[in-house]
Amino acid sequence: MAKKVLKFGGTSVGTIDRILHVANIIKKEHEANNEIIAVVSAMSGKTNDLIQQSKKISDNFNKRELDVLLSSGEQVTCALLAGALTELGLKCKSWLNWQIPILTEGENLNARIINMSILKINEFLSQKGIVIIPGFQGISRDGDVTTIGRGGSDATAVAIAKIFNSDTCEIYTDVDGVYSTDPNKIPVAKKIEKISYDEMLELSSLGAKVMQPSAVQTAMMYNIPLEVKSTFTNRKGTKIFNQDNNIDYTKSVTGVAYSKDDAKITILSVADKPGVAANIFEPLSKNQINVDMVIQNISSDLRTTDITFTIKRDDVAKTINILENNRNIKYDDINYNDKVSKVSIVGAGMVSTPGVTYKMFRSLADENINILAISTSEIKLSVIINEDDTLKAVKKLHTIFELD
Ligand code: ADP
Ligand code: ASP
Ligand code: MG
Repeated sequence: MAKKVLKFGGTSVGTIDRILHVANIIKKEHEANNEIIAVVSAMSGKTNDLIQQSKKISDNFNKRELDVLLSSGEQVTCALLAGALTELGLKCKSWLNWQIPILTEGENLNARIINMSILKINEFLSQKGIVIIPGFQGISRDGDVTTIGRGGSDATAVAIAKIFNSDTCEIYTDVDGVYSTDPNKIPVAKKIEKISYDEMLELSSLGAKVMQPSAVQTAMMYNIPLEVKSTFTNRKGTKIFNQDNNIDYTKSVTGVAYSKDDAKITILSVADKPGVAANIFEPLSKNQINVDMVIQNISSDLRTTDITFTIKRDDVAKTINILENNRNIKYDDINYNDKVSKVSIVGAGMVSTPGVTYKMFRSLADENINILAISTSEIKLSVIINEDDTLKAVKKLHTIFELD
């Protein structure tokens, strides 16, 4: 007997037929004598629909109420799945965020799970009951409903695996594992049998939507092994775990990721003296604007410089507004390009393979792709390029690093 956390994503519960199919997966696991906690997402598209509805009222919809609205998607799937399991003759119950409760801290739309109450649920599990819990949400100390960021049901599943000390945490989704790049965009992508937390964290932070980054981070912190697998086939999935002593260095690059929600801002001719960069970035950080890459060019007069940095595309208007109202900086002009994307190669084997950087730049040049910014770490190399070149770049890098 094992205690299992099974998480089902939006596509997996996207229709009534699929919910019935998921109920059968859970039934089999339960009949194999396992204790099951199922974590569910909203039906695919539902959370986006709810956001669109709020936007029809205001682009600046009250965040507390937005969390009440967005959390409703998961409530629907919880009830439908629990109802379906009951129809199959199984003992089953859904628990909503406030009924458990799942305690969070942090601001609305971006809260973090910090604890939850386990007694009632453990008791129900010990009576052979199946537990269904909504992903993506919790309640604050004040009792307000909160959500924990897009794709957050992954993080709920990992938090539950940790707090309930489960034996497995299985992420059921619409692909049968983690691939070398998005298999829906690049069909020659290859499934990765096992991957380290570090590599998975880089891939997901750099755009591989298959796992949510904060879920991977929590799993890494508490050493919770994850398995990503398909709701629709029985093929073996991908195991994500600590591979400190077991890293496969035969391949320099494990995967290629990309994100298309980036923007690049350049401030022209700011003074080249101590404190200027701090004056630029301090108000951005105070306003929760996440700056990704920063490049500074020395200008020919050696007195002024241009500073370029990248941010999320949604933050462009806010960032420019902050810069324009910043009395502590002087510059000639600000320009921006919000049609850029970030393409990254990730691999623990990169550290020990010389020439990876050169190979990446050469192959992009061969495709006539201009690099607008570069950032590196031990196990990843990212470039900002024009958005139109994204898939061409991903394909080329996938081939050149022998991942096809
Ligand atoms: P869920 O709704 O189950 O949480 P998501 O849509 O969040 O599923 O994540 C699964 C999707 O992630 C896949 O359909 C695939 O298009 C995308 N994806 C992006 N990069 C990768 C990758 N490297 N491996 C697998 N899937 C990926
Ligand atoms: N329904 C939420 C979202 O679409 C959470 C999730 O699916 O993981 O972001
Ligand atoms: Mg997801």
